[in-house]
Amino acid sequence: INVQSTVTFDSQFARELPELAHPWQADQAPDPRLLVLNEQLAMELGFDPESLRHIEGVRLLIGNALPSGATPVAQGYAGHQFGSYSPRLGDGRALLLGEVADAEGRLRDIHLKGSGRTPFARGGDGLATVGPMLREYVVSEAMHALGIPTTRSLAVVATGRSVSRETMLPGAVLTRVATSHLRVGSFQYARAMNDEDLLRRLADHAMARHYPDAAETENPYLALFDAVVAAQASLVARWMLVGFIHGVMNTDNTTISAETIDYGPCAFMDAFDPAAVYSSIDETGRYAYGNQPVVVQWNLARLAEALLPLFHEDQEQGVALAQESLGTFNSQYSAEWLAGMKTKLGLDCGIDDETATSLTAELSALLQESHVDYTSFFRNLGTAARGDAESARSMFSGPSTFDAWMERWRALVPDADLMDRTNPIYIPRNHLVEQALAAAVEGDMKPFSQLLDAVTEPYQKRSGLGRYAAPAPEGFGPYRTFC
Ligand code: AMP
Ligand code: MG
Ligand code: MG
Repeated sequence: INVQSTVTFDSQFARELPELAHPWQADQAPDPRLLVLNEQLAMELGFDPESLRHIEGVRLLIGNALPSGATPVAQGYAGHQFGSYSPRLGDGRALLLGEVADAEGRLRDIHLKGSGRTPFARGGDGLATVGPMLREYVVSEAMHALGIPTTRSLAVVATGRSVSRETMLPGAVLTRVATSHLRVGSFQYARAMNDEDLLRRLADHAMARHYPDAAETENPYLALFDAVVAAQASLVARWMLVGFIHGVMNTDNTTISAETIDYGPCAFMDAFDPAAVYSSIDETGRYAYGNQPVVVQWNLARLAEALLPLFHEDQEQGVALAQESLGTFNSQYSAEWLAGMKTKLGLDCGIDDETATSLTAELSALLQESHVDYTSFFRNLGTAARGDAESARSMFSGPSTFDAWMERWRALVPDADLMDRTNPIYIPRNHLVEQALAAAVEGDMKPFSQLLDAVTEPYQKRSGLGRYAAPAPEGFGPYRTFC
């Protein structure tokens, strides 16, 4: 079986930016076994899914059989991690296999995570385990189904190798697909090399791949920055609307494409709380739910610093241009968020912003006060829009204050169908993800497949899936995520 016949790998990144690309090979897996394959995505990329299930296909998925044209590389990047700068991070356990053109002619990166040590590995073992790779798979595919820009997951392959963590765990490689793996940290890395030609090539590469219109403007590099600001403002608004907490928003985990990347200690918020943090490593709450817009803006300021020499030959004028552009972040974010909130509440987008703003501010206070489950609240509110308010009311410790809010909301004639199309019923709830991953590590993939089925069709209520819609049982306790 020739799994490659229909798919040609390019190595544009490696060719155009050799300073950022270290040619490298994936470790050979002793006993590769396919755990999950995204057939639809495979087809979008031009693969025959059946051939990917065959051993040669599985070996291709983890870089053990190299497709023709592929030059796997470890990508270099820097990054601010929890605010402090690391000049050399890079793909310590990952490789870019190459780019393929998808069904629409768009270039997509095929990338491996957990493929062995690289020159960027530092103290790490270069490996990944089944649980976290399946977590990335299910959460990224759920995000995609929710319409949120994200890297995609093509496959998870168990390597047959044991990996030493707190205990010995089964190793795995995730095959990830993205419109690119360019990060804010890629620009920080190029800038630190003090090579303006390299920085310009990187910016040109990013522009060609993601924002080709910027090249046609008077100041293309500023236009590139403007475009990233707009796209990231939109992305974080989408996270906030759906209750997603990334957990580790370092500059190396902030993409130029504004696709969500690097699902480590992420979680969907259950009880509404701006201070919600699930990550075990986020001790100060830097990346708490409510901080995410501010953090994105901070990360974009680091991107501006890296791009500065390209904005203007006069540094002061360059800074002024960057500040002006970054200054538009808040209004872009707020507009996108408010528009999204109106839709979640079933309201006409023409309703004036002042009314919508006060309504959402009051609602936030009520949700927080009663520790209301964020996702199920909006679904229950949709039921209230159909005339049955009890399921929403009963979520509040003082239903009478909620009643007053509901009166005002109902007077605006919410559209229940719009609400059901906008507010997901099935999300990858933390306790369900944990159960599915624990079973998978023991060799039972069934809970994972069922969860994946539920969350990749998030809006349509289906019979028999009640437990995927319900908040965590009382006994689940406070949830902590780990990288
Ligand atoms: P992350 O927190 O996943 O964004 O990773 C931050 C940095 O640590 C990146 O440079 C990763 O490649 C590197 N890294 C994470 N885990 C490992 C590992 N097990 N072995 C080598 N490098 C790693
Ligand atoms: Mg990362
Ligand atoms: Mg990670």
